[in-house]
Amino acid sequence: MTTVLETAAPRGFVEKTALERYVPPAKPSLIGLSRAALAEALGTLGVPDKQRKMRVQQLWNWIYIRGVTRFDEMSSVSKDLRSALEGRFTLDRPEVVAEQVSADGTRKWLLRLPGEHQGERPHEVECVYIPEAGRATLCVSSQVGCTLNCSFCHTGTQRLVRNLTAGEIVGQVMVARDRLGDWPGGAPPEGAIVPTDGGRFVTNIVMMGMGEPLYNFEAVRDALLVVQDGDGIGISKRRITLSTSGVVPNIARAGAEIGTMLAISLHAVNDELRNELVPLNRKYPIATLLETCRSYPGLSNARRITFEYVMLKGVNDSLDDAKKLVKLLKGIPAKINLIPFNPWPGSRYECSDWEQIEKFSEYIFNAGYSSPVRTPRGRDILAACGQLKSATEKLSARERMALRAMAMTD
Ligand code: SAH
Ligand code: SF4
Repeated sequence: MTTVLETAAPRGFVEKTALERYVPPAKPSLIGLSRAALAEALGTLGVPDKQRKMRVQQLWNWIYIRGVTRFDEMSSVSKDLRSALEGRFTLDRPEVVAEQVSADGTRKWLLRLPGEHQGERPHEVECVYIPEAGRATLCVSSQVGCTLNCSFCHTGTQRLVRNLTAGEIVGQVMVARDRLGDWPGGAPPEGAIVPTDGGRFVTNIVMMGMGEPLYNFEAVRDALLVVQDGDGIGISKRRITLSTSGVVPNIARAGAEIGTMLAISLHAVNDELRNELVPLNRKYPIATLLETCRSYPGLSNARRITFEYVMLKGVNDSLDDAKKLVKLLKGIPAKINLIPFNPWPGSRYECSDWEQIEKFSEYIFNAGYSSPVRTPRGRDILAACGQLKSATEKLSARERMALRAMAMTD
C-alpha cells in the first residue's frame, strides 16, 4: 500500500513538507531516552523519586556498557522491577534486514523502521561502518529520505520523509556494536577488523547517512547527547561530526546544544551553481552560510569546520573553482573534504577524473589545506579504484571510496 503522504514535490521547491509521523509501538524501547526521560519512565512504574537516579545509573550501565537486549539479564536490578520493565518497555534496536560486508572491513546495514500506517511498507535506512587504521567511523542516518533534494544525491529523490526518533538514531550505534560483537564477552564476526590494543570498534560518528540532521534537530541532539555520555557509549563530541547542507538557523543552535564538530556540504563556490546542486541555497545563500560558520562556537585551528565538496566532472571541478574555494574559506579555520561522486542509476552527473581530483587537491593542498585524497590512505584508495571489485564485494569500489572520503573528518 502506498501512503497518501507521498505527494509529488512541486517544481522548484526547496523543502519537502510531507513529514510522516512516528507512531510509537505499544511497548516502546528504552534505547535513546535521556537520563531524565528514563527516570520519568521509572516513575510510571512506581519507582520512588529518591531511588530513580540510582536505578537510572544501573539501567544506563546495563544498556550502554553491557549492551544487554533483555531485562532479565540485568542481574543487579530487582526481579520485580525487571518484570515491571518487561511489561511496559523493550530494549529493541532497529531491525537489520540486510548486511553487506566488504573485504576491507566496510559494513553496510539496511535497517527497517516502522511506518505510520498499519500494513504500509516499512521504511528503510542505511548505516555504514568504515574501519581504518587507528579509527573506525559509523555513518548514521537521521531521516527516512530527506527534507531536501540536492540534485546529485540519491536520498534527495525519495519523496517520503520521516524523522528518525532519538532511539532510532542511538539504535544504529547499538546495532553496529551488536553486529560487531562489541560488548563485554561478545565475539566479533568473521572478517571483522578487531581493534588492536583493546581499542574500540566504533571510535567516530558522522551524521552523513540519509537525511538532513538539522531538520530533525531535537532527536539528533538528544541522540548525540546519549552517545557522548561518558558513563555509556562515551564517544566524545570531538569525534562526532554533524554534516549539514546549510540549515543556517540551526547551525548556531547545534553548536550551543550539541557541541559536536561541524561539516558543511558546500559543493559549489557560486550561488548560481549551488542553487542547482543544493537548492536550499536559494533560502540560505553562500555568503549567509559562511557568515554563520565564522561564528560557530569553539572554532580554532585545532577545531575546524569540514567543508565537503563532491567532485562532479565538468561541473564544479575546475582549477578556477579550487581557487575560488580557497578564497571563499579564507579566515575560517577549515578542512576541505573532497568526496568522489558516487553515481546512482539515473543520476545526471559523473565523478571527476582522478587526474582532475588530484590537480584540484594539489591546489588546495598548496593553499594550506590537506585533503583525504592526498593522504597516503587516500592515495591507496585512488590507486585501487576499479581494482578492488570482486564478486564477493557487494559495495562498489566507488561507494566505498566516497564513504571513506566522507569519514575522514579529522
Ligand atoms: N544531509 C546532510 C548529511 C547527509 S549527506 C548533508 O547534505 O550534509 C552526507 C554527505 O554526502 C554530504 O556532503 C552530501 O552532499 C554527500 N553526498 C550525497 N550524495 C552523494 C553522492 N552520490 N556522492 C558523493 N557524495 C554524496
Ligand atoms: Fe538531503 Fe544531504 Fe542528500 Fe541533500 S545531500 S538531499 S541534504 S541527504
